[in-house]
Amino acid sequence: MAKILDGKALSAVVKDEVRSEVVELEAKYGRKPCLCVIIVGENPASQVYVRNKVKAAAYTGMESRLIELPSSVSEETLLGKIAELNSDPSVDAILVQLPLPKHIDEEKVIYAVAPEKDVDGFHPSNVSLLWLGKECIVPCTPAGVMRLIDSTGVDICGKTAVVVGRSNIVGKPVAKLLLDRNATVVIAHSRTADLGAVTRQADILVAAVGKPGLIKGEMVRPGAIVIDVGINRTEDGKLCGDVDFASCSEKASWITPVPGGVGPMTIAMLMKNTIRCFKSRVPGAR
Ligand code: NAD
Repeated sequence: MAKILDGKALSAVVKDEVRSEVVELEAKYGRKPCLCVIIVGENPASQVYVRNKVKAAAYTGMESRLIELPSSVSEETLLGKIAELNSDPSVDAILVQLPLPKHIDEEKVIYAVAPEKDVDGFHPSNVSLLWLGKECIVPCTPAGVMRLIDSTGVDICGKTAVVVGRSNIVGKPVAKLLLDRNATVVIAHSRTADLGAVTRQADILVAAVGKPGLIKGEMVRPGAIVIDVGINRTEDGKLCGDVDFASCSEKASWITPVPGGVGPMTIAMLMKNTIRCFKSRVPGAR
C-alpha cells in the first residue's frame, strides 16, 4: 500500500519558509514582497484559485493586491493594466488567472507581463531560460511536483520518469525539470499508442491530462512514485484526479491524493516565486 504524499502538509512547510523570509526581507530592505493577482470574469473555479492564492499571500505576511475585472473588459484595458503594474516599482510579481474570456488573446497577455515579474513563469523569456538550463522563474505546478518528489527522499538521478501530458504549463516543464535531475524522461500524450506499456516503465509517474481516473493500477509499475496533477470535477461535484487512487495506491510506493496533493503545492510555490521576483528586482537581494 502506497504512502500518501501529503501536499497540504508540505505546502504548510513551504509557506512557513516564505513567512520567515518575508520578515527577513522586510527588515533588510524596508518593504515586503508584493504579489498582484488579476482575475477577469466570474469563472467559479478561477475565483476559488484566486481566493486561495490571496489567502496564502496573507498568511506569509507578504503584500497582495487583487484586481477584479469584469468579463466584458477589453483586451486593450487588460493590457493597459498590466503595463501599469509592470512599471509600478512597488509590485514585484504579476499573475493573470487563466483562462481568460474568449475575446482576449491569452498569448498576448502572457507576453505582456514583464519577465522579471512573471511569477507564473509563462513568459517566453522564462520558458527559454528553463529549456536552456539557466536560472529562471519555474512555473508553480511543475516546481510543486518536484518538491513533492524530493520529499520522498528518493534520488531522481537515473530513474525512468514518465510524464503523461505535454502542455506548456505542466507536462513540458515537469519533463524538463526531471531531465535536469538526470532522470530518463518519456513524455506520453493523447497520441501515445499503448499508454499502459509506457507508464509501466515509470519509476516516477506524473499524470497531467485532465481525464478522471485515466491511470489505472495495472498501468503502474510496482513501487513507483505517482504524482497526480489532474483536477477534474465529477458529476456529483467532487474533485478527482487523473489517477484512479484506489487501484494505483495498491501498486505505488508513494502517491498524491486529489484534493490535497499537487494543488496546495502550486499555491505554496507561487509564494516562493514571489520571493524570487522580489529578489531579482531589489539590488543586492539575490
Ligand atoms: P491540457 O489540456 O493543456 O493538456 C492535457 C495533455 O494531456 C495534452 O498534452 C494531451 O496530449 C494529453 N492527453 C489528453 N488525452 C490523453 C490521453 N487519453 N492519454 C494521454 N495523454 C492525453 O491540460 P493542462 O493544463 O496540462 O492540465 C492537465 C490537468 O492538470 C487538468 O486536469 C488541470 O485542471 C490540472 N492542473 C492542475 C494544477 C494544479 O495546481 N494541481 C495546475 C494546472 C493544471
